[in-house]
Formats: sequence, structure tokens, C-alpha cells
Amino acid sequence: MTMTQYQVVIGMEVHAQLQTASKMFCACDAAVFGAPPNSHVCPVCLGMPGVLPVINRRAVEQTIRTGLALAAEIAETAVFARKNYNYPDLPKGYQISQYELPLCLGGSLTITGDDGRPKVIRVRRAHLEEDTGKSKHMNQNGVTYSLLDYNRSGMPLLEIVTEADLNSAQEAYDYLTKLRTILRYIGASSGDMEKGAMRCEANVSVRTLLQAAQGEYGVKVEIKNLNSFSAVRGAVEYEVKRHIETIERGGTLQQVTLGWNEAEGRTFVQRSKESAHDYRYFPEPDLPPLRITRELVEQLRATLPELPDAKQARFMAQYGLNLNDAATLVATQAVAAYFEATVAAYGGAGREVCNWITGPLFSAMSSANQDIRSLKVTPDNLAALLTLLDRGIINRNIGQRVIATMLETGQAAADIVETEGLAQVSDSDALHAIVREVIVANPTEATKYRAGNLNLLNFLIGQVMRATRGKANQTVVRQLLEQALAE
Ligand code: ADP
Ligand code: MG
Ligand code: ZN
Repeated sequence: MTMTQYQVVIGMEVHAQLQTASKMFCACDAAVFGAPPNSHVCPVCLGMPGVLPVINRRAVEQTIRTGLALAAEIAETAVFARKNYNYPDLPKGYQISQYELPLCLGGSLTITGDDGRPKVIRVRRAHLEEDTGKSKHMNQNGVTYSLLDYNRSGMPLLEIVTEADLNSAQEAYDYLTKLRTILRYIGASSGDMEKGAMRCEANVSVRTLLQAAQGEYGVKVEIKNLNSFSAVRGAVEYEVKRHIETIERGGTLQQVTLGWNEAEGRTFVQRSKESAHDYRYFPEPDLPPLRITRELVEQLRATLPELPDAKQARFMAQYGLNLNDAATLVATQAVAAYFEATVAAYGGAGREVCNWITGPLFSAMSSANQDIRSLKVTPDNLAALLTLLDRGIINRNIGQRVIATMLETGQAAADIVETEGLAQVSDSDALHAIVREVIVANPTEATKYRAGNLNLLNFLIGQVMRATRGKANQTVVRQLLEQALAE
């Protein structure tokens, strides 16, 4: 066991594909995901000589909106820059990006830190750039070659870089989740990692608490091609362990760029510091500097929806929800909207609605593999179901069954209760007969109960519920059984 304590230091770089109709500098359709290779290309995004880029206004607006959502400072002047390097998926030989004068500077995002308290993660910058094409490396009977698809070339990308404020793999995971939620709320990016619409790189180092106190940092590695949030968590945990082990045995760490092998659960070196590129950035001569008026900034601010943190605070104050419940609802904008529409239709307690959504509805949705956006249970229908429960027309068991049927058929709750005869039986006369039958059918249990084994009452209640297919009013059943057994 080591006595030295370490602090993990992480900074994240995220690339998010912006939701626009066309590409960053040309008129090509941006709906490239899943399209046949090289079907969405033109001389501009193929990097032909002599063509000129034209800035996509929507991409600039989406970047500014994201900056505003992250409380960043929006530049008055932003400049596109050429980042020069050679790679087959970059046909121009340079990527148009932003370097010294990005659109968004500073900003922050709040997560729940490892200590359970709110933690502010500072954003360093967010800039706009274009994506590259994709190469696919082939090997057929030992013959190796590469295929190139330029559909993604020139797609608008927003790069968001944090300060090194994250201190664990879990905090990195939470940061990414929160960032993706915000991007989705404002409609800037789908954030779908499986479609490559969000990609992340983790910068990781480890330092002793003494180093931390002195403001020193450990050797940093950068981990690329992380294809899911859990890959980020796995790769960071792996690197932290490797760093600490190396330090403990007196080894030296190299500042390298790493890849992550998900299948084998380990990182591998992609390139060393010595082979780092010199990108020879310079201002893009084919594009004018972007002048962002304050009027435009205010116009765009007005288009922002209520953001997750604000919504969560409001849900807690307005509906009396606890933090966990409010966080669960606001994690998906469509769920939050569904919740509020249901409360409005129901007119009752928000907490009750929340319990039914996060409990029975979510579990029915996951068994039926249904998404909130394609849900057949409308908020009105769910509200009507809750009203049936309040009126004692059905009990909670039946309520859960009705939800499952509503999910399949989209029928109204009352119709399902009617056609399936699910109304709660509270009528004492009808239940009385069943209670007597149950006592007669279970003589041993009835005798033992009478002899003092009171636990058997629950067994007998269960038998009555079964005989009524779950529809009996349990309170009434309990009373009737107690009376009958006391006779
Ligand atoms: P580079 O020049 O290698 O790209 P930067 O200083 O530009 O490094 O930072 C890139 C990312 O790495 C940022 O998110 C930053 O917060 C993070 N970072 C910088 N130093 C460290 C460190 N010592 N440990 C972990 N992350 C770091
Ligand atoms: Mg970097
Ligand atoms: Zn094009």
C-alpha cells in the first residue's frame, strides 16, 4: 500500500457536429450519416484548387448559442485559420479552424463533483472548424489499401475545450453527459456518439498533493478515439492506474498521444511528443474576419430554451421534487416536457406524476423498447390514468398493467379498464363471498391464523387478490378477512 496521495487531473476536448442543413463552407447537404460513400461532395469539400469557401451562417449561430449556454464570452471578431497538415482524408492539405481568435472564450458548466457538491468546470474556449473525410484501411489477402469517403469532409464541427478542472474518471463522464444534454437542449448537436456526432479526447495526468499545493502538474497524456462515455471512463481509469504505478516504481512517463483499444481494455501509443505536428497556423486568406454584433448575440440568446440546470431548479421549487427526481426528468428535454404536460392535464401533485413516469412508465418503456418521442401514451392519457387511481376506480397494481397496455395500443386508460374489466372491486358483498371461499379453500392457514400466526393474513389477502385477478380493493379485503376470521 502506498502512503502517497495523488490527485487526478483531466481536461476534455470535445468535437460536436453542429446541426445545420448544409456543410461548413459549401452547399452540400449535411445529412451525410449512412449515405453511400462520396455521395455528398463538391469541389469545395473535395479541396479542388481555385474554389472559395463560404461561411455557413447557421453554424456560426449554433456556435454562439452554445457559447451563450456555457456562459462564454462571444468574440466581437473571430478569425478562421488554416491548420496545415497532410493526410489523405484532408484533401486541401489544411483544415479551416480557429486559432488565436475563436468565437467563444471562457465559460463554464456545473456538474455534481465526486464529493456530491456542485462543481464548476471552466471552459477554456469553443471554436468552429470543418471536419475531415474518413479513411477505411483494408486488408485483402495481405494486400493493404485504403478507401476514402469525403462525405464528412467539410461538416461543421464545434470544438469545446475545458481547463484541467476534472479530477476523476467519473467527473469526466458527468461533464460529457452534461455537455451533451446542453447541446441537445439547444439543438446545436445531436450528440450521438455512435454516429460520430460527438467525439472526445481526454487529457490525463496525475500529481502528488504536494505538487498540487505548489501548482505543479504531472506529465500529461492525450487519449484519442474514445467512442463512448464509458470508453472515456475506462481509458481514464486505465491511465491513472498506469501513471501511479509508473511513478511508484520510479519510472518516467512520456508525454504521448494514445489510442484506446476497447476490446482489450488498454491504451496504446499513437505518437510521441517528438512527432507532434507543427501546424503552421495562419489566418485563412479566403475568408474575412467574422464580426459578431451584440445585436446578433442578443437575438441568439433569445432563442435559447430553458437550460437543464434552470429547469431542474424550477422543477424542485414548483413541483416539490427532490434533486434526483428533478435531475432524472430534465436529463432529456422531451421527458421534462412530457412531465409538465401530464401535470397540467392531471391538475394534481407533480410528485405523483414523477413517480409514475420514472417508475412504471420508464420500466414499461424499456421492456417495450419505446422512446419518449414515439410514445403512444399521451400526457392526457397518463393524466386520465392517474385520475382513475385517485378515484379508486383501479388500484396501483392494475395501474401498472394498464400502462403496459396503453404503451402497446395507445388506447385510453378508461377504455382498457372497461374492456378488460379491470375496475377495482370494492363492493363488500361481492368480496365477502370470495373471502369466504378463500377461507374454506385454505383451512390450514385459516386455523393457524386464528391460533395467532397473524402473518398468514397477507397470504390470505394474496389469495383473494388472485381470485379477483388483482382487482380487489386491498383495504376492503383486509377488513373483510379480519372480520370473517374473527367469527
Ligand atoms: P496541448 O498544447 O497539448 O494541446 P493544452 O494546454 O492546449 O495542451 O490543453 C489541451 C487540453 O489538455 C485542455 O483541455 C487542458 O485543460 C488539458 N490539460 C492541460 N494540461 C493538463 C495536465 N497537466 N493534465 C491534464 N490535462 C491537461
Ligand atoms: Mg489537444
Ligand atoms: Zn461540398
